[in-house]
Amino acid sequence: EAKARGKNQWVEYERAIGRSRLQRLELVESLRASVAAGDLTLVYQPVVRASTGYITGVEALARWKSNGVDVPPDVFIRVAEETGLVVALGDVVLDQAARDAAVISRAAGGDFNVSVNISAKQLREPDFVTKVERAMAKMDGATLVLEITERDGIGTDPASMSAMSTLADRGVPFAIDDFGVGFSSIGYLQDMPVRIIKTDLSFSESIDRDERSCALLCSITMMGQALGLDVVVEGIERASQLDHLRDHVHAPFAQGYLMHRPMPLDQLVKVIAENRALPAIPQRDPARVS
Ligand code: C2E
Ligand code: MG
Ligand code: MG
Ligand code: MG
Repeated sequence: EAKARGKNQWVEYERAIGRSRLQRLELVESLRASVAAGDLTLVYQPVVRASTGYITGVEALARWKSNGVDVPPDVFIRVAEETGLVVALGDVVLDQAARDAAVISRAAGGDFNVSVNISAKQLREPDFVTKVERAMAKMDGATLVLEITERDGIGTDPASMSAMSTLADRGVPFAIDDFGVGFSSIGYLQDMPVRIIKTDLSFSESIDRDERSCALLCSITMMGQALGLDVVVEGIERASQLDHLRDHVHAPFAQGYLMHRPMPLDQLVKVIAENRALPAIPQRDPARVS
């Protein structure tokens, strides 16, 4: 139902964007004003160790209201990409996430990842490394992970490569997001300082219903692990998908509505505290506990 509602909203905005240039302009101007005012919020979705349910990190996801109405991220992020606003938007997100990370880090007590999605455009900006370092300085022990999506092409240009390797040297892990749907050559994994892959939502959709689909996710996971990468499987919505993830796919990390939905910071702090107080979720097959 939530999914259907999201889809309708999306269709509405698509129509608004497609139908009239005026409406699109209004959306752009509204987004520009919000970005300038820092008027975006972040919600956080936990990433868990698949075998235990233990929260090992969170992903920051931007939320935006235009005139009081939620605009789906797929819509405003694309508008931001198309207009170049994504760079300023990314600054707001990075700054907010860094401040929140200090709070999250205290709640988690120790090793903890805070992931931020970045656009390929940000990576090409000359001052990106400086901005990230400034953010890291505020994060109080949490590890900043940068997610770049494969969809709009991984930046193999010299500026992006140099920013990535500089940041990687300073201890920033890079994650390839929506892995597997970008149709770019996976050979780049050899040359880039990537530490994590996050499989696209579509790969987990039918793992509990279709053997071939499960085999596909299994192969992607094995490849990632053979390259020494951490693999996060996104889009786990049903218990039966999680069962398949544990019993057949053996991916170390998972993210999805079944475990946790994206939530505001105050709620996240409580969820982390509860998660820390729980004994590790017992395994069906103890031999597989890592
Ligand atoms: P993403 O980075 O791949 O983030 C995961 C998306 O999947 C999020 O959508 C999340 O709410 C959703 N999701 C998580 N678990 C499930 C599940 O079990 N089932 C389903 N169906 N969906 C699940 P969201 O928040 O709508 O964000 C969409 C995309 O917008 C993100 O995909 C990311 O590419 C982009 N985005 C969000 N925030 C930012 C940002 O601050 N900067 C940039 N550049 N992009 C962002
Ligand atoms: Mg992401
Ligand atoms: Mg993704
Ligand atoms: Mg995505």
